[in-house]
Amino acid sequence: MPYTYDDQNIFAKILRGEIPNDTVLETEHSLAFNDIQPQAPVHVLVIPKGPYVSYDHFAQNASDAEIADYTRAIGEVCKLKGIEDGGFRMISNAGENGVQEVPHLHVHILAGRPLGRMLDKA
Ligand code: 5GP
Repeated sequence: MPYTYDDQNIFAKILRGEIPNDTVLETEHSLAFNDIQPQAPVHVLVIPKGPYVSYDHFAQNASDAEIADYTRAIGEVCKLKGIEDGGFRMISNAGENGVQEVPHLHVHILAGRPLGRMLDKA
């Protein structure tokens, strides 16, 4: 499926510095910041700086340097937040069935409380 990136999405505006964010980590190709409506004591969003809509779009098109940086940034956030012992969940919603609200790739890192089952059965 061809992806069209909308550069007016809210995370593009965060990357351009047009709206503020609570930064957890910034690297050459990635930015991690706290979710504005946290659903757990730790709720960090990690995004690539490049114009990628979803994880598959990124994985199919990003450079090796971007992919390595993004993966390392996720690992660094887990270390910074001290969540390896208690455990965590990573979620990346995509498209309509994934109920993705912001069309710029983001991984949610959730931790700090029991997170329940992965999906309800509805
Ligand atoms: P999605 O449903 O697309 O996977 O999740 C989008 C996430 O972005 C939601 O958890 C929402 O709270 C978060 N979000 C939306 N707008 C903003 C914003 O302006 N700043 C921050 N930090 N998070 C946002």
